[in-house]
Amino acid sequence: METSPQIKSKFPRAGTTIFSVMTALANDHEAINLAQGFPDFEPPAELIALKHRYMLEGKNQYAPMPGVLALREQISAKINRLYSIEYNPDTEITITAGATLALSCAIMCCLGDGDEAIIIEPAYDSYAPAVRMAGAKPVYCEIDLETMRVDWGAVKRLINYNTKAIIINTPHNPTGSILNAQDLIDLEKLVENHDIVVISDEVYEHIIFDGREHQSVARYPKLAKHSFIVSSFGKTYHATGWKMGYIVAPEKLMAEFRKIYQYVGFSAHSPSQYALAEYMKNDTWCAALPQFFTEKRDFFRHLLKDSRFKLLPCDGSYFQTVSYDKISQLNSLDMAKEMTINHKVASIPMASFYHQPFAGKYLRLCFAKSEETLKKGAERLCKI
Ligand code: PMP
Ligand code: GLN
Repeated sequence: METSPQIKSKFPRAGTTIFSVMTALANDHEAINLAQGFPDFEPPAELIALKHRYMLEGKNQYAPMPGVLALREQISAKINRLYSIEYNPDTEITITAGATLALSCAIMCCLGDGDEAIIIEPAYDSYAPAVRMAGAKPVYCEIDLETMRVDWGAVKRLINYNTKAIIINTPHNPTGSILNAQDLIDLEKLVENHDIVVISDEVYEHIIFDGREHQSVARYPKLAKHSFIVSSFGKTYHATGWKMGYIVAPEKLMAEFRKIYQYVGFSAHSPSQYALAEYMKNDTWCAALPQFFTEKRDFFRHLLKDSRFKLLPCDGSYFQTVSYDKISQLNSLDMAKEMTINHKVASIPMASFYHQPFAGKYLRLCFAKSEETLKKGAERLCKI
């Protein structure tokens, strides 16, 4: 009998990502899915119409490898407007099939055997596997969930001759915390005069609350010289399923990035790029997002105020971290499963964002949902 060939597993201990696991469990148990981070409302109708139009107009073949120039120009103009820095659309901006792919290619292009990348934990789940796929070693610096501040002194102590990258994420998934100006100044000092690349995951750049300004590394010229910045159209335009993102970096870094990306993805969905380029010409959308999501956050937090969950602060992203310390002593994976099955609300266990067992009694809840979904979800959470 024919058997499939044996291969040496790259990740012998890896399972399926928690996002797939919890969404499947939510579907199986008809639970409200506040787990995987995606909106249950639609992208702008005009953007959908534009995408349709470009498909009908025949923009259905490969886009140029770095992306449709008109879209790169719009991104360059937007970054300049928001963060007062010029990125050359020809040489310093690449459109990718989602932010995840951009992050992985950036990681691959600056890390290799024996190198180390510093990851701030809790961390989005794709960083460490990408570092390991590059042959390098993830090194972790944990933040205290009650203060949610990064200890840059501790990060500094992890830096050695092998350190080639530091991966940051602001606004932060899963905690909902944000980096402030002092954080970026501290980081800038850490990397100046070192061959260390900063990979800055800023997919929630427009989802920030209470009038705060997103501290993009792009605002800090010396830091920007060291950095890849990644963003996601999926997050900004409520279109996670489109898997569209982009990455910007100084020319030399971007040249290396493209050497990898051209063989891993080559290019991203072409009609989406034309549509986004057109839509961004008169884009009032991004400016309205902070208010839109501030209202969602406030609505959801208000609904949960009398629950037994403790709400941690949330300054950005569309995730609310809650502590269930007063409710149960189950570990967070078991708690998330138990709540999905018995209380019909799905969440993401905080332990999934750590590389080693994490005992904290925390869950992540996604509030990028309609008022109706949030009400139903909160009603159930209040009964726990
Ligand atoms: N980074 C973070 C912090 C995220 O939450 C996500 C999920 N959207 C991504 C990257 C990946 O974005 P994309 O769906 O565009 O690949
Ligand atoms: N970024 C989303 C989240 O954090 C999900 C991404 C995914 O499903 N891989 O929930």
